[in-house]
Amino acid sequence: MGAYELDGSPYVLERAALQELLDVLRAHGYTTVGPQIEHGAIVYDELHRIEELPIGWTDVQEGGSYRLERRNDDALFGYNVGPHSWKRFLSPPLRLLWRARKTEDGFEFVVDEEPPPRYAFIGVRACELHAIQQLDAIYMAGPATDKDYQRRREALFIVAVNCGKAGNTCFCASLGTGPGVGPGYDIALTELLDGEHRFVAVAGSVHGAEILETIPHRSATDADIALAEATIAQAARRMGRSLETAGLKELLYRNIDHPRWEAVAQRCLTCGACTMVCPTCFCFSIEDATDLSGQVAERWRRFDSCFTLAFSFISSGSVRTSAKARYRQWLMHKLAAWQDQFGAIGCVGCGRCITWCPVGIDITAEAAALRAEESGQLQPEPAAV
Ligand code: SF4
Ligand code: SF4
Repeated sequence: MGAYELDGSPYVLERAALQELLDVLRAHGYTTVGPQIEHGAIVYDELHRIEELPIGWTDVQEGGSYRLERRNDDALFGYNVGPHSWKRFLSPPLRLLWRARKTEDGFEFVVDEEPPPRYAFIGVRACELHAIQQLDAIYMAGPATDKDYQRRREALFIVAVNCGKAGNTCFCASLGTGPGVGPGYDIALTELLDGEHRFVAVAGSVHGAEILETIPHRSATDADIALAEATIAQAARRMGRSLETAGLKELLYRNIDHPRWEAVAQRCLTCGACTMVCPTCFCFSIEDATDLSGQVAERWRRFDSCFTLAFSFISSGSVRTSAKARYRQWLMHKLAAWQDQFGAIGCVGCGRCITWCPVGIDITAEAAALRAEESGQLQPEPAAV
């Protein structure tokens, strides 16, 4: 057995069975959501047919760069992650919290009681499953529970996919968050492309096992299982980046006034793109609005970013006025303070913030630079863009 071992009793699904999986999930009342190509990127949207997946496409990612390329096969999941993450379905970017109407003797509150969709996510990667579990800790495990998130999460069905390829900006292997999926999925798939296009499927929940039983399948052979494990192990070996986590929190706290923060601030545009694409960034703001008649008032919740000036605005102005203060706040929260808050690093190594940063600022390089300087191995600062 390899370093990545599949749990349970693996089945093999033929490619055509994946459409049946979608059909069965929809027949059970799930809204199936999965990867598809839109505006030159692989994003997540409602998925009805397997043909809507990015068949035969892959993504090529680097700091500040993303493009799609044709593969030389018809892989359904031959790419890594794009600008979307699953958080937009579990915690929508814009959500009405309540509406109030003026009445004869005051106000009447109208709360949206429509049940949220029951989602089945198709193609959740290992790092993304960890990110969802991070959101669970934020929205459901603390003293206050986000009821809307909880309803979406408890109804969720997860079809995970083990990565068979690693992206240039990925570093999940160094964080222990991938590329093989851990517990928390209902069904996990590994795509095999050695002539016979097929999927090794493992159930991770009772409901997942029930669904899997209804799909045409056969038992996986030792050869199927060995190939699946080798595929994942190969992705781990080819990971584009890594992040050393030993003593990371202490390293960052020791270097809170390091000149490196000023250097990175020279490049950072404070655009907040890194926070929007990050699957674990969860900050939001609350906005109140009234209509022109003054009869209706609404309260909305909207994604926010710690890179905006308004984010830290208090009575006398913004607390973090410089790019240095805002970049440092983001990185320190992700890699250090998150550990104090939630007991884990707030990064799952998906690489999105590196790929989608317009100037290619790299969270792994920034942390490594501080570490290298402490150990006497100075690293050059990247040139300003
Ligand atoms: S900080 Fe960057 S690499 Fe880490 S989870 Fe967020 S987007 Fe992914
Ligand atoms: S690190 Fe990059 S993506 Fe994030 S705010 Fe700065 S320029 Fe924008």
